[in-house]
Amino acid sequence: QSQELSQVRIDYQAALQALVEDGTRMVCSGRMHTDRVCRFESLCYSTEAEEFVFFHSNASIMLPNLGPRRFQPALLDLSSVDDHNTQYFNFIELPAAALKFMPKPVFVPDVALIMNRFNPDNLMHVFHDDLLPIFYTIQQFPDLDFESRLFFMEGWNEGLHFELYKFMSNKQPLLKEQLKTLGRLLCFTKSYVGLSKITTWYQYGFVQPQGPKANILVSGNEIRHFAKFMMGKLNITLDQNAAEAYIVLFSRSMNRLIVNEAELLLALAQEFQMKTITVSLEDHSFSDIVRLLSNATMLVSMHGAQLVTSLFLPKGAVVVELFPYGINPEHYTPYKTLSTLPGMELQYVAWQNTEEENTITYPDRPWEQGGIVHLETKEQERIKKSKEVPRHLCCRNPEWLFRIYQDTKVNISSLIQVIKSTVKKKLGLRRQKWTQGLYPGKVRESKCQASAQGTSEAKLFVSWQIPWNLKFLKVRDVKYEVWIQEQGENSYMPYILSQQNYTFSENIKPFTTYLVWIRCIFNKTLLGPFAEVLVCST
Ligand code: UDP
Repeated sequence: QSQELSQVRIDYQAALQALVEDGTRMVCSGRMHTDRVCRFESLCYSTEAEEFVFFHSNASIMLPNLGPRRFQPALLDLSSVDDHNTQYFNFIELPAAALKFMPKPVFVPDVALIMNRFNPDNLMHVFHDDLLPIFYTIQQFPDLDFESRLFFMEGWNEGLHFELYKFMSNKQPLLKEQLKTLGRLLCFTKSYVGLSKITTWYQYGFVQPQGPKANILVSGNEIRHFAKFMMGKLNITLDQNAAEAYIVLFSRSMNRLIVNEAELLLALAQEFQMKTITVSLEDHSFSDIVRLLSNATMLVSMHGAQLVTSLFLPKGAVVVELFPYGINPEHYTPYKTLSTLPGMELQYVAWQNTEEENTITYPDRPWEQGGIVHLETKEQERIKKSKEVPRHLCCRNPEWLFRIYQDTKVNISSLIQVIKSTVKKKLGLRRQKWTQGLYPGKVRESKCQASAQGTSEAKLFVSWQIPWNLKFLKVRDVKYEVWIQEQGENSYMPYILSQQNYTFSENIKPFTTYLVWIRCIFNKTLLGPFAEVLVCST
């Protein structure tokens, strides 16, 4: 590895002098540790102390300069998981003069992206926490590109899916453990620390029970753009006119099994008159799985990390997620949330085993595989009797682990019924284009004229022009919403109109000031911004 780094020759004396004179320079984006990514020049790392080092000189810069708040709790999250206390980043500070007494720095010439992977052995975590955030962090900062070097500081070994991480850079990613072989004091010429969280859609339940993130900022478009990139790296070319429709059953071979898988395969094939294929992470290469999924009509799988691969399904495909006995599908929705992101255009179906005689439990297994024999007898009995796992926090709730690691005999007729009742549209058919939707701009040249008729009646004549972007669009349904609010009142009267002017006389009083708010609505659901409020006095 060290040879690799030194391939790019740098003038060592000049670099050392610059470090001593200029120190470390840091400028960050983001207001809080949870949304911060920092750009550094000359950030160093002591492989002996396992600490990042900020060198102060007359020319060093530290923005934000948080003072002691830098430790409350940290400068930033090093993984994409929000505010996880094992994933914090900070540095220690030294005067640049201390370099005289330190090991000779080894300079890292590549632009570095320094981060933590969250759980590199779990496919959902690999995609959601690491690959998508890396991909879009690289797109966010112009210094970062596929020539940048990734540094994984969480301390794991390569993990089960290192091949996928390698697609994110043309250079070999380096692990924390490998840094020791490079030198005692590493100095990153230019580096970014932290990951963008803009693409994550799920929180795993560390502080409140798991669920979709409160403020999802990613759409299917960006997920599919990433999927396309990954497919390119996997040498998969999309065969748009695939000859035959087929169903993929993604099975697990070690735990959370479908015990009547063969029967299920046959039944699906018969019901939907399609070929049915089984894949598993144990028996198929990742690229074979993605190749199969990218043309599939339906994906059927037990709840589990393998379902994150539904991001490779074509638009219009159906995702069928199976849940073991006692597990409420509404409480565990990482894959439902993914499938139903706007623009993913997947049809999502959840099925749950509700028949206790069809579940196979494993109380004797180790706790992390759902065993419960280590618990008090009373607690074991309670768990065995319980019909649904109550909402809980991550990650060691024994009742949750007991239920989620059950095997299931799938009641085939109930499953097929659920699929058929949810999938009303013809299988594989895409939703119509107009649903994706562009939003209207503000209405223009809005005007209001008031007229009083005597002392008891009054009217407001309000008119406006179409939003500027409408003339470039084919919109099926254009409506305008007008709110009329008496000044000083909290309530307002809403109207939905098709035309661009209207005379309001209902409930309009003379000698009164009204505020008029107007916005355009495309296709009933795409609400535009309000134009500047009009003030009219009768
Ligand atoms: N896994 C698998 N086959 C199995 C069990 C697990 O391929 O029989 C994979 C699974 O897809 C995930 C990883 O092993 O990538 C960890 O699985 P675990 O059950 O811990 O997590 P979950 O799938 O519930 O997220």
